[in-house]
Amino acid sequence: MKRDNVLENLASKSTEHEFYTPKPKGYRPGRTKYVIVFGTVMSGLGKGIFSSSLGKLLQDQGLKVAPVKFDGYLNVDAGTLNPYRHGEVFVLDDGLECDMDLGNYERFLDQDLSEKNYMTGGRIFTSVLGKERKGKYLGRDVQFIPHVTGEIKGFLRNLAVHSKADVVLVEVGGTVGDVENSYFIEAMRELAYEEGQGNVCFVALTYILEPGFLGEQKSKAAQIGIRDLMARGIQPHIVACRSTNPITEKVREKISIYSNVPLDRVVGLHDLKSIYEIPQLVKEDGIDKEVIEILGIKSRVKPKKGMPSVRKWNAFLDKLHSPKGKVVIGITGKYTSLRDSYASVLNAIEHASVNNSVKAEIKWIETTEIEKGKIKVEDALKDVDGIIVPGGFGKRGIEGKIECIRYARENNIPYLGLCLGFQMAVIEYARNVAGLKDANSTEMKKNPKHPVICLLPEQMKIESLGGNMRLGGHDVLIKKGTLAHKLYKKEKARERFRHRYECNPEYVETLEKAGMVFSGTNPRKDIMQILELPQSRHRFFIGSQFHPEFTSRPLRPNPLFFGFIKAAVETSRERKNKE
Ligand code: GLN
Repeated sequence: MKRDNVLENLASKSTEHEFYTPKPKGYRPGRTKYVIVFGTVMSGLGKGIFSSSLGKLLQDQGLKVAPVKFDGYLNVDAGTLNPYRHGEVFVLDDGLECDMDLGNYERFLDQDLSEKNYMTGGRIFTSVLGKERKGKYLGRDVQFIPHVTGEIKGFLRNLAVHSKADVVLVEVGGTVGDVENSYFIEAMRELAYEEGQGNVCFVALTYILEPGFLGEQKSKAAQIGIRDLMARGIQPHIVACRSTNPITEKVREKISIYSNVPLDRVVGLHDLKSIYEIPQLVKEDGIDKEVIEILGIKSRVKPKKGMPSVRKWNAFLDKLHSPKGKVVIGITGKYTSLRDSYASVLNAIEHASVNNSVKAEIKWIETTEIEKGKIKVEDALKDVDGIIVPGGFGKRGIEGKIECIRYARENNIPYLGLCLGFQMAVIEYARNVAGLKDANSTEMKKNPKHPVICLLPEQMKIESLGGNMRLGGHDVLIKKGTLAHKLYKKEKARERFRHRYECNPEYVETLEKAGMVFSGTNPRKDIMQILELPQSRHRFFIGSQFHPEFTSRPLRPNPLFFGFIKAAVETSRERKNKE
């Protein structure tokens, strides 16, 4: 058997062997290469940002990159995860609810992803058990090796065929040593064996401790972490060391000698102010160059003339580093202590601010305090230049949110409502302008007198939770002559949704008569998707039933966020002139 033909030889055998390794039609080993990123020592090292940055650098070189993230938990998708524990639930255009890291890949690679780019333990087992029930492994005991690991390899090869990528970039969630990802790591070892030399590149991301009481960097934890990976049969090709300060030569040497990784492939990644600076650092470390060499794909490198993607990215960084002003943006919310819960909203604000040449300072507003009367709304909002009520579920703090919206509306402060923020703006307007005193959402109150927000008809029949909201990308028709049209500059946009409730169609006429404008609707059904107040009455007051934060990219900020920050800049300027 020729060594580089391991996969060919295995695939032709009968089911009565130990090599269960599905190979999709049209798969050619070596056509697509694999970069696999593991994390050691601890979680939270920014593996996703690192992988996204590396992906972007390979893309800048003209290579086609398909990222994929593996999460070890047994949930089938991220839909039922609490953002307080796990960070924001990101939504893809095809409706998949996934880990927030996929948001980073979309933002860094400026590429729409799909369910082919996300794998969880739950999804893998669902598939394996489904096959078992259908008798696909007939006669065999179904085992972690080869069946579960085979399922994983099959998934990656499917992505390779489907995407026609030069490089499939795999981020292994969790930390080496976790029970949850151990079979996945085993699958990666098998993948390298089957694909053959030069087709898989392993990158270990690790952490160098620098305890304050010692005042020096310590590499032991990193060494043990890498040892653990090697004990699983994986020899890293590259080791990237995360650290607070740039790593010392001594640390690099230690890691190199302990891990069999040549010194020039042990690189440092110290903390930087913005995640958007990371690609530059990864580039300075030469990791993209090393990956290209390890995978033998130099001949495929064809960067665009003048590297426009790099030039544009650098121009974005220049603006990021030298803002011409500042705006204060108030965000109301339940998960106010965790930035990760609102990752995409914060990113979208940053994209819009940088492209408006300002820096946004975030002020978190705990609306339960306003509700309880502990803080007055005018005190909480007196120094903000714009207010966002982001998405959310349940009734905690909603009366406080409605108060904030009223304050924004009455005081001409830019307002942007995202999903729940759209719904709360409808309630506020119904109560305080349209005279429907007891207006509410049926999510918040049973049988309110005026259910201005109610369940979507298709949601009435659903009883279980998970993957069954109105999800993913839908077209939005935008009315000419409205603020939304001025911002989008087109009559049709595609945005992403994640909701169960909607503006009750029975109240649309009443609300319109009272002056609310529904400037975005669904082309087929009567679902209100954007609301606004005419600019003759308010500087900027918009709510969207969708989540515009999911489609915002550094170089292409979402139009609603861009317009909102622009209005906040004007508000801030006026405030200063008055002072
Ligand atoms: N809870 C509301 C709904 O289900 C809003 C959802 C959201 O903000 N994503 O419709």
